[in-house]
Amino acid sequence: MKIIAIYGGKSAEHDISILSTFSMLQAVYYEYYEVQLIYITKAGQWLKGALLKEAPKSEADLRLTPETAELIVPSAIKEEDSIVFPILHGPNGEDGTIQGLLEILAVPYVGAGVLASACGMDKIMTKYILQQIGIPQVPYVSVVKTKWKDTPEEVFGQCEGSLVYPMFVKPANMGSSVGISRAETREELQAAIEEAFRFDQRVVVEQGIEAREIEVAILGNEEVRTTVAGEIVKTVDFYDYESKYIDNTVTLQIPAEIPEEIHQKAREYAKQAYLALDGSGLSRCDFFLTSNNELFLNELNTMPGFTPFSMYPLLWEEMGIKYGDLIEELLQLGLMRFKQRQ
Ligand code: ATP
Ligand code: MG
Ligand code: MG
Ligand code: MG
Repeated sequence: MKIIAIYGGKSAEHDISILSTFSMLQAVYYEYYEVQLIYITKAGQWLKGALLKEAPKSEADLRLTPETAELIVPSAIKEEDSIVFPILHGPNGEDGTIQGLLEILAVPYVGAGVLASACGMDKIMTKYILQQIGIPQVPYVSVVKTKWKDTPEEVFGQCEGSLVYPMFVKPANMGSSVGISRAETREELQAAIEEAFRFDQRVVVEQGIEAREIEVAILGNEEVRTTVAGEIVKTVDFYDYESKYIDNTVTLQIPAEIPEEIHQKAREYAKQAYLALDGSGLSRCDFFLTSNNELFLNELNTMPGFTPFSMYPLLWEEMGIKYGDLIEELLQLGLMRFKQRQ
């Protein structure tokens, strides 16, 4: 069988996708699979690379160029007896767009479908859904670009009326903390909103809270499995892009040292949210935990980071599933969902 690995992408999370893909390709069981590389460049070109029969030697091998690989149209990826592994983070990958293409092409693929991808990626839609099913989350205000352009005073009024500083400002559709800032004053709020609008037409302003950050990994289609929670132990103000991928200013504590009932509650919330969003395959559910043990669900990431140092695979390792077996489970879940929908 062939795994079609689609990675890279036009999003700001291009490089993270390459890291995740390189790790995944080290762990594939090559006695059962060949891997077709499909690289989406930052400019959005689709390049078809070599057919791998063993793990690539370096990350550089994944950065294909029009000189080393064949330029194709997206629909040309379809092949008999294959499954797509779209290891793309952020817009155009994690947001349901690529999943829509794969549905139309009728090829099996790993991970969430169109609905869960689109709703999980969109922080405002996620909030509406969590609200509906009664899962606690931090207070927020959503802002659309036209409103911000026409009546910024009204936006300030809305934010300052229902939230207190510090506030967190985020583009609705992003990940890896791209475009997110913390604002302590009205001036900073203004700059933060401008910054977030560079990435999206919709922005969410959230109540900033002082909290620990814990995450639960989810695996499954109808039958949903969750892990114990892990903690992102920060020495920084917030878990921004630099601390995630560059400075290594965080450590992962697995399992999180929190009361057993918080583990249970986080797992239960994660599962409920996953089902409400129509999750399938995998997700990583992120929470805030305050010092008086209040738990808020922050988001569901339908294509979480997948490097050997990422929370998602490490949580499963803690549960007894090693990295290679996890990849295999994800492929099987993708195939199973495809068969059921035929
Ligand atoms: P990823 O998909 O990589 O997990 P993201 O870009 O979707 O990240 P969030 O997880 O929502 O963004 O936020 C990034 C980080 O910003 C959080 O991990 C946390 O450190 C900080 N943060 C976000 N919202 C708040 C908040 N309301 N209060 C305090 N800190 C926050
Ligand atoms: Mg996210
Ligand atoms: Mg993300
Ligand atoms: Mg997060």
